[in-house]
Amino acid sequence: MKRAVCPGSFDPITFGHLDIIKRASNHFDQIFVAVLENRTKSSLFTVAKRIEMIRETVADLPNVIVDSWSGLLVDYCKGNSITTIVKGLRAVTDFDYELQMAQLNLQASGVETMLMATAPAYSFLSSSIVRELAHYGGDVSSMIPPNVNTAIKLRVGGK
Ligand code: ADP
Repeated sequence: MKRAVCPGSFDPITFGHLDIIKRASNHFDQIFVAVLENRTKSSLFTVAKRIEMIRETVADLPNVIVDSWSGLLVDYCKGNSITTIVKGLRAVTDFDYELQMAQLNLQASGVETMLMATAPAYSFLSSSIVRELAHYGGDVSSMIPPNVNTAIKLRVGGK
C-alpha cells in the first residue's frame, strides 16, 4: 500500500491545500493530512477545530485520513509506514525552504518529498492571507470551503 502525507498548519484549510490533497489522492492508496502543531506560530483555530473542518472538506475522498502530529514529520512517516511527503509549491519563494526540508528528510530518514506545482489560480493563496483578510472583514469565500468560511466569520466576529 502506497501512503503519502500532506503536512501543514492548515490554519485554516484553503482551496490551495484542497487542490494538492485531491490531486495527491489520485496517485497514492492513502493520503494522510497531518495537522502539525507548531510551537512558534500563533494560531487562529485550535488543532481540533482545524481537523474537524478538514474532515468535512475531504468527506468525499475515501482514501484521505486526517490526523495531527506534534513531533518530527519523519517520525510520523515511520510510525505510519508513509514513504512520501507531498507538498505544494506556490512560487519560487516556497522553493528554498522546501528544497532544504526535502533534502534533510531524505538524508535523515529516506523519506522522499514530492513537490507539486500549485494550480495557477491558487498561487497567491495562503492561510495567512485568508486570516489577514478575514480579520479586516474582507470576503474570503472564493479562497476557502463554505464550512470554513462560516467558521472564520464566527471566529473573527466573536474575538
Ligand atoms: P500556509 O503557507 O498556507 O500557512 P501550510 O503551512 O498549512 O500553509 O502549508 C501546508 C502545505 O500546503 C505546504 O506544502 C504549502 O506549500 C501547501 N500550500 C499552501 N497553500 C497552497 C496553495 N495555495 N497552493 C498549493 N499549495 C499550497
